[in-house]
Amino acid sequence: MDDAVRRQKMIQDRIADGRLPNNKIGRVSATYGTGEACDACSLAVSTEQVLYRLGRLGVQELIFHNACFEELSRRSAIGLDRPRKSGSRCRWLN
Ligand SMILES: [Zn+2]
Repeated sequence: MDDAVRRQKMIQDRIADGRLPNNKIGRVSATYGTGEACDACSLAVSTEQVLYRLGRLGVQELIFHNACFEELSRRSAIGLDRPRKSGSRCRWLN
């Protein structure tokens, strides 16, 4: 299993069992990591990697790698960085 597939599966599982959110999140900030563990893949976010923090009222902050955060955005309904609708073609012209 390559890293991307492993990450997708891990994030899917964690959304399913409630460890990762599947709804809108209050606050997001991005910074560089300082070695803390990513809440999606459990690997450390190094000082060369961008780290995303998701803050939710009354819930402990979650920390993600850039790639893990993107994967979470794709798979959940957190409402951030949604993928663009397929291409820019107007469907009425096809
Ligand atoms: Zn990660």
